[in-house]
Amino acid sequence: MAKRDYYEVLGVERGADEAELKKAYRRLAMKYHPDRNPDDKSAEEKFKEANEAYEVLSDSGKRTAYDQYGHAGVDQSMGGGAGGANFSDIFGDVFSDFFGGGRGGGRGGPQRGSDLRYTLELNLEEAVRGTTVTIRVPTLVHCKTCDGSGAKRGTAPVTCTTCGGIGQVRMQQGFFSVQQTCPRCHGSGKMIADPCPDCRGQGRVEEHKTLSVKVPAGVDSGDRIRLAGEGEAGTLGGPPGDLYVVVSVREHPIFQRDGKHLYCEVPISFADAALGGELEVPTLDGRVKLKIPEGSQTGKLFRLRGKGVAPVRGGAAGDLMCRVVVETPVNLSKRQRELLEEFRGSLQGNSSHSPKASGWFEGMKRFFDDL
Ligand SMILES: [Zn+2]
Ligand SMILES: [Zn+2]
Repeated sequence: MAKRDYYEVLGVERGADEAELKKAYRRLAMKYHPDRNPDDKSAEEKFKEANEAYEVLSDSGKRTAYDQYGHAGVDQSMGGGAGGANFSDIFGDVFSDFFGGGRGGGRGGPQRGSDLRYTLELNLEEAVRGTTVTIRVPTLVHCKTCDGSGAKRGTAPVTCTTCGGIGQVRMQQGFFSVQQTCPRCHGSGKMIADPCPDCRGQGRVEEHKTLSVKVPAGVDSGDRIRLAGEGEAGTLGGPPGDLYVVVSVREHPIFQRDGKHLYCEVPISFADAALGGELEVPTLDGRVKLKIPEGSQTGKLFRLRGKGVAPVRGGAAGDLMCRVVVETPVNLSKRQRELLEEFRGSLQGNSSHSPKASGWFEGMKRFFDDL
């Protein structure tokens, strides 16, 4: 397959400086990152392509070679693991919790296992009160058969025959002599002659594990709970990654949440709105009584202090805001109809009973007069 021009891949000018390259690469890497595009082959290809282009262009020596000789100037120097080193470097500040820091050990040495992310759906009550849930997560764990070495029981990894155990090889290409990570052992200097049948030489196997997660009271969507060491197993004796449980709170049929405050709509009868009355309104702790003054209009907010959510990071509990909605009565009996007819008649010619409507009619009149 013919390779695309690296500048074209990143969508930058040939004279682009380091910052522009980094920015362009970061944008593509975010867009096509495999974690964001699971099972999308074309995204994976684009991600690899961008990695490769950035690896070459961000290295001034390789970039000079590429500018002069095109792909032929750099192809031989491309390692198998496209751009691994740059990858964590540039993602450090973007995905610091997920990908940062922990990819230590350098190429070929012990590698810390990847961090995992698990989305935990909770209903509003669970999120507000806190709960303990049991989750089952797929992960890569240390292979017990080979004790993580990847070599078949009774055998041991042998010195890599390609690099002689150094982990690096020199490649000669025209005028260039380039040191690169050994493509066979990926820098470890060892290779597995007889792979472990259980993990196929990977030293790790896929497994589901069951974990108990304590969710503190007051969490909200997007909050993360870190379970240290519960991510994927490391390789070659590296430490495991972490598991991040990301909270996602389901919609509630009655309450909407905005931070520590809760909102709900309460229908009130036309008569209660006009005469005032006492309503029962829902809270997360059960029903409470709410006094409505006479003349309450639709949209009026009543604040119930402290009936919201106690934030997980501390501080006073929020409030519950009840928004009243005046309900038009339906299915009237003959008697009710007569009463309302009579009531309507009593309003005739007196706008003081309808503050909104009189204001509205005034505005409409002014609008037509101005035309
Ligand atoms: Zn194994
Ligand atoms: Zn090697």
